[in-house]
Amino acid sequence: MRHLPYFCRGEVVKGFGRGSKELGIPTANFSEQVVESFPSDISTGIYYGWACVGNGDVHKMVLSIGWNPFYKNIKKSVETHIIHAFKDEFYGEILSIVIIGYIRSEKNFSSIEALISAIQEDIEEAKRQLDLPEHLKLKEDNFFHLPEGKTVNH
Ligand code: ADP
Ligand code: MG
Repeated sequence: MRHLPYFCRGEVVKGFGRGSKELGIPTANFSEQVVESFPSDISTGIYYGWACVGNGDVHKMVLSIGWNPFYKNIKKSVETHIIHAFKDEFYGEILSIVIIGYIRSEKNFSSIEALISAIQEDIEEAKRQLDLPEHLKLKEDNFFHLPEGKTVNH
């Protein structure tokens, strides 16, 4: 797929309270500015890749690129669910991601249960894909290793 792998870094901002935490699937939202910097022809849908908060460990992630209904379908949102149990929230921190592969297009679901089980399947697919040697190697990419003592401006 065009544009992949795609490297991206930006601040984690407040989303629109879709209750993803209540679903047990929090998604770290990028700012509008970061979303606008994405290639405009990148397909909407669900992707897998690697993610890192600040200069913490690199974890598996699933990511959604889609149209936010709160913006009347004008603004895209880019949201990362990191496959790791964090103790705290990390709003305001810098999230670094590499988007590696596409899982599926956006879908409508008739119930919350159907949505949750689809996301759980996406997570399982992401875990399997990311264990493949060609995907595992991006976990060690220099992109995730910020030089000592330097901070990222945003
Ligand atoms: P919002 O609508 O503000 O994006 P969410 O319910 O989607 O709220 O929760 C996202 C927030 O939860 C993130 O910004 C982050 O601070 C926190 N969080 C905790 N654990 C994770 C995780 N595993 N993946 C993504 N975000 C997480
Ligand atoms: Mg979110």
